[in-house]
Amino acid sequence: MPQRKSSKGHCIFCQKEFSKVSITKHLATCAERKKAIEQANAGKGTAEMLFHLRVQDAYRKEFWLDLEMRSTKSLKDLDTYLRGIWLECCGHLSEFLLGTGRFANQIGKQRKLQDVFQRGDTLAHIYDFGTSSETIVKLVAVREGKPLTSKPIVLMARNQRPEEKCIECDQPAEYLCQECLIEDEVWGTLCAEHVQSHPHGDYGDPIPLVNSPRLGMCGYDGPADPPY
Ligand SMILES: [Zn+2]
Ligand SMILES: [Zn+2]
Ligand SMILES: [Zn+2]
Ligand SMILES: [Zn+2]
Repeated sequence: MPQRKSSKGHCIFCQKEFSKVSITKHLATCAERKKAIEQANAGKGTAEMLFHLRVQDAYRKEFWLDLEMRSTKSLKDLDTYLRGIWLECCGHLSEFLLGTGRFANQIGKQRKLQDVFQRGDTLAHIYDFGTSSETIVKLVAVREGKPLTSKPIVLMARNQRPEEKCIECDQPAEYLCQECLIEDEVWGTLCAEHVQSHPHGDYGDPIPLVNSPRLGMCGYDGPADPPY
């Protein structure tokens, strides 16, 4: 995998761009988010504890999400969300582990977030026990209020798709060749022009680059959109 510069992302509320490090601070003060929170609190429904989660791929840390999740919702809801936005290729098994290393314990997906997860804990999500994707979840902040939507999770920020270069010409790449990856173990990214003349096709046409750390693993090809 190529080395990448520091990751950028954007705030879903105000659409402005921030670095991965500064966006957490931004979310705490974002005027547009504040408005959305005030609007929700003035509406119907009951207040509850809401968890701000920082989610990132365990190895490719330029892939990250800031989520707000209702603490009464279950790990199953988080699993569904991660599958939708990043992971789902062919319905593999998944599990959650709380803690790290040999102190990590598997925890059931029916458990509620508030019953298993406290600040300082590390929650790991493993998708697919063959070609595994590992996601790390940390609790950044907690607030009390009415949820912004009726869904368990709200996307607050996510990384921009990392810029990649064409292996032929160094121009921005738009595609990934799976034959390069599987047969030659080369991260074969291609621009819109060189994808036309690329000689490989044994694993189908090169797939468009999408904003997911699972791209190219087990044939994952997107769409990498939030499930709701
Ligand atoms: Zn903002
Ligand atoms: Zn698969
Ligand atoms: Zn090119
Ligand atoms: Zn190729």
